[in-house]
Amino acid sequence: MKFVYDFTEGNKDLKDLLGGKGANLAEMTNLGLPVPPGFTITTEACKVYLDSGQEPAALRDEVSAHLSALEDRMGKKLGQADNPLLVSVRSGAKFSMPGMMDTVLNIGLSDKSVQGLAKQAGDERFAWDSYRRLIQMFGKTVLGVEGELFEDALEAAKTAKKVTVDTELEAADLKKLVAKFKKIVKTEAGRDFPQDPREQMDLAIKAVFDSWNGDRAKLYRRQERIPHDLGTAVNVCSMVFGNLGPDSGTGVAFTRDPASGHQGVYGDYLQNAQGEDVVAGIRNTVPLAELEQIDKRSYDQLMQIMETLENHYKDLCDIEFTIERGQLWMLQTRVGKRTAGAAFRIATQLVDQGLIDEAEALQRVTGAQLAQLMFPRFDESAKVEQVGRGIAASPGAAVGKAVFDSYTAVKWSRSGEKVILVRRETNPDDLDGMIAAEGILTSRGGKTSHAAVVARGMGKTCVCGAEELEVDTKRRRMTVPGGHVVEEGDVISIDGSSGKVYLGEVPVVPSPVVEYFEGRMHAGADDADELVEAVHRIMAFADRKRRLRVRANADNAEDALRARRFGAQGIGLCRTEHMFLGDRRELVERLILADTEAEREESLKELLPLQKKDFVELFEAMDGLPVTIRLLDPPLHEFLPDITELSVRVALAESRQEPHENELRLLQAVHRLHEQNPMLGLRGVRLGLVIPGLFTMQVRAIAEAAAERKAAKGDPRAEVMIPLVGTVQELEIVREEADRVIAEVEEATGTRLKLAIGTMIELPRAALTAGQIAEAAEFFSFGTNDLTQTVWGFSRDDVEASFFTAYLEKGIFGVSPFETIDRDGVGKLVRDAAKAGRETRPDLKLGVCGEHGGDPESVHFFHEVGLDYVSCSPFRIPVARLEAGRAAS
Ligand code: ADP
Ligand code: MG
Ligand code: MG
Repeated sequence: MKFVYDFTEGNKDLKDLLGGKGANLAEMTNLGLPVPPGFTITTEACKVYLDSGQEPAALRDEVSAHLSALEDRMGKKLGQADNPLLVSVRSGAKFSMPGMMDTVLNIGLSDKSVQGLAKQAGDERFAWDSYRRLIQMFGKTVLGVEGELFEDALEAAKTAKKVTVDTELEAADLKKLVAKFKKIVKTEAGRDFPQDPREQMDLAIKAVFDSWNGDRAKLYRRQERIPHDLGTAVNVCSMVFGNLGPDSGTGVAFTRDPASGHQGVYGDYLQNAQGEDVVAGIRNTVPLAELEQIDKRSYDQLMQIMETLENHYKDLCDIEFTIERGQLWMLQTRVGKRTAGAAFRIATQLVDQGLIDEAEALQRVTGAQLAQLMFPRFDESAKVEQVGRGIAASPGAAVGKAVFDSYTAVKWSRSGEKVILVRRETNPDDLDGMIAAEGILTSRGGKTSHAAVVARGMGKTCVCGAEELEVDTKRRRMTVPGGHVVEEGDVISIDGSSGKVYLGEVPVVPSPVVEYFEGRMHAGADDADELVEAVHRIMAFADRKRRLRVRANADNAEDALRARRFGAQGIGLCRTEHMFLGDRRELVERLILADTEAEREESLKELLPLQKKDFVELFEAMDGLPVTIRLLDPPLHEFLPDITELSVRVALAESRQEPHENELRLLQAVHRLHEQNPMLGLRGVRLGLVIPGLFTMQVRAIAEAAAERKAAKGDPRAEVMIPLVGTVQELEIVREEADRVIAEVEEATGTRLKLAIGTMIELPRAALTAGQIAEAAEFFSFGTNDLTQTVWGFSRDDVEASFFTAYLEKGIFGVSPFETIDRDGVGKLVRDAAKAGRETRPDLKLGVCGEHGGDPESVHFFHEVGLDYVSCSPFRIPVARLEAGRAAS
């Protein structure tokens, strides 16, 4: 196996092997762009190292061979005393993990070669600056020395010299600093800073491998659902220097605005600086546009390259570059992260530019992004007290109590508080706090700062670089212009779409995307919102592509109408139990308590017209579209008063010697119906079988409602769904009775109703015997909530709060199986049952209702296994439509 690839050997499609950075460095090299020469050690080598604790045997020789080739090409040897070749050792996994992995620059410098570098460059200050950076980075990331020790020493040097920025330190100061840094290394790491350049390089490579399993890297992977076994590649790249004086510098840029998608010049540039300086907020950067004044030639070349990259990758790219004495070098590119809104806009812009087609456009957006765009925003007409404005780094409207450190953010959010994490700037240590917070506010850094990049990745609201805010993390407060002080715990509101920061709680309003789906805002109008326009077009692409139909879970006409506006093609789940609550509770109580058949029939008779009316309204709202009605599902005790409360009432009445016959009867019934595990008790079809007349009444109400709609020239398409069936016999009995009732109603009204009768598949036994069950069912609707509970043996209400976090932390599952369908277990049952059912009855209609129907990943699964539709809550419908379209393209 080959473990090392020269940049000229790879390409952008080799991300698995070369990591994102390596693959794209190779791609740029082969595009003829100015990339400093180098090579990439593969993820395979990393995997061998992580598995066995040792680098593969062949690796050392391969690295040596590539290093010699690089040395020949550059005409100097690594760390050569009079003219050293310097390299960076850079991590780069398949997925970018901002700030997670460690990069060491200036490898090859030593006490000797620093002199050579000074002579070669004719700049002593530069050489010593590079050397101190090496010791600092190497000490921190390779030898594990606390980074703050170096930073404090650097601060001290500046203070001693009475200067504020590092560029004001001179060669002599830096020499002293190097000595100090070496001492720090010696005391903290218990060894000298290695003077042998090859040893430096090898140790750095190993450190990159090791950093794959650093805590922060692991946390980030869990968050982003990146598999833990991919490993990272390592890039060895010859150094170019942005710290060689004012005609040098380093910068980052996007080929278009990652917040709006607009084309233009977006980036930050910093003169006389190296590497991370731009994003670390060490000195204030200038907007990229100013580079045109500073160095027109490099600027023009950069613009040219950015265009080349966009046309080549057919997407927004972000880049890192360095200018060394007027010569431009490309150090990194990748398809850039973007806000949800920008993703939609960019996808349609690229279609218009002819760069991508509709199917590809669908791959450029996600249901999660659409969901994000449907979040409410701040009410612009509200009375607000704006106290600052930063960069709109990641959209959303976040309100919460200001906290100034990650620890407090986590602690407070655990106790149910909403918090905004306020920092001067964030670094990887803040990740926990960023996850816990509603939003993130920083006073330093641009669109490419750590806070901005990570927040966008997490879809979390972020305002960064709000410079007029004075953040004092030590004293846990921030001072806003005018002098007002925001203390820890004070409520603030931040708008990640405008960058505005407000004191207090600002009210929120619905998003324009929701207004659009609701039909209150239109695409195509002159003043149409750009975002709405893009969403409209993408939804049309998705609807054209998708095979899965999307239905709604809705229990009343109002929800049904909204679902229809959102694009629902029917109702997949109408829960009749919701119709038994409120005023009707008393009737239901009487039904449950009935001692005689006559009493029972009496209350059923009273319920019938009420149920019927519900269905008439529902069929009218969904005229022409299927409406699946689930017969009563939950255990009866849910309709009775709480046992403790009732006991108290009875006891009180007794002690006061007041009449309490009814309460007593009720209490007896509650006791009779009390179950240890109601979820596994008397519910669903079991109720229908033991309470005579209950399901009959419901079926009659459905049939009569359908007949009434027909008589009114409507087009009702009712489907009767029997819940919690475990065996075909249950279904057969209920079905026989239902068929009889429907025939009766048809006879009485003289209409053919064509009601379909089907079942939920939500018990493992039902799934396992799906072939038999299909004999008696015209459709299956997979109830994946209950199926997940019963397959895993989890009671949802109990487990989510108790041990799920532990399970997620331990990586037992990457995401709750109630959120995304467990493909291997629950999913297997769905797949097999669908197949068996269709073998019995080829035209069996298959759907899914329950939470998973609106979950992006699960929608893809349901598409794969050939279901006909998914059903989800009205608000998730656009997401399901989009994902169904993506799954099919
Ligand atoms: P990250 O993945 O954190 O961005 P990088 O490997 O890209 O880490 O490197 C960190 C910084 O060092 C970046 O700003 C990058 O541009 C810079 N850098 C990396 N390699 C070189 C090099 N060979 N010459 C100059 N600067 C470099
Ligand atoms: Mg980088
Ligand atoms: Mg169920």
